[in-house]
Amino acid sequence: MFLYFGNKESVDNKNNNNNNNISNNNNNNNNNNNNLAELATQAWRGSAGPVEPPLGEEAGRQRSWDEPVCRASFDLLLTRADRPSRARLLAVSSTDAGAWLHTLPLKNLGLCLTDRELTVATGLRVGAPIVRSHSCVCNAMVDPTGHHDFSCRKSAGRQRRHALANDILARAFRAAGVQAELEPHLLHGIRGRRLDGATLDSGSVGLPLAWDFTCPDTLAQSHVAQSATGAGEAASKAEQGNITKYGQLAALNSLAFAPVAIETLGSWGPLGPD
Ligand SMILES: [Zn+2]
Repeated sequence: MFLYFGNKESVDNKNNNNNNNISNNNNNNNNNNNNLAELATQAWRGSAGPVEPPLGEEAGRQRSWDEPVCRASFDLLLTRADRPSRARLLAVSSTDAGAWLHTLPLKNLGLCLTDRELTVATGLRVGAPIVRSHSCVCNAMVDPTGHHDFSCRKSAGRQRRHALANDILARAFRAAGVQAELEPHLLHGIRGRRLDGATLDSGSVGLPLAWDFTCPDTLAQSHVAQSATGAGEAASKAEQGNITKYGQLAALNSLAFAPVAIETLGSWGPLGPD
């Protein structure tokens, strides 16, 4: 409850003055807000390059402001990158190359990375030094990026990576209700060639599907020049090699054939996702 004991006119004047002050304060606040918004927009333009700021509903989305800045930073990195760095940047930014970051870390499914594994996986992708320079058992020098291990003929990890990827493919088929067998034995062979896996059920083309998985190294000496021209170039080459090597074997056994090639830095070949 408001109690008044003074002159009414005096109170009215005071109220008018207060209202004027509030109005002035609002105007000042609006001006300050406009100035801040203008300053923020100028700063954003400085980072985002020659693009217009988002308007209307889009202006309320953080992503609309972030993406042009990220794109401009990425383009700048590409223009300054040497050939291996360019190949690395193109590969790690390609479609689905970052899908592993969205994987739920479920230990029972083998989807949990240790801190050390996460450090190495991230370091490889950003080109950070992850090892001390040393000499490999194959006599090659390993630089601090540690990437040599992916293409070294004497690296034990290559076999394990290959086996794990095929296991994941077989499990994916089974999860989709399609029976699949790894390294199927009851096939008419071409001497020395064995497919990585095959489904037991017929697929959409009316034939069981055979696959062969390969994991070419994005930055291997034999691939880096192509990898620097576009993401997935090494995987694309590997797919064609697999078709040449295994397509006939699959056809001999009335199997459709799908090469699956995913590079060490995550790029897929063009046929894999299909
Ligand atoms: Zn080596």
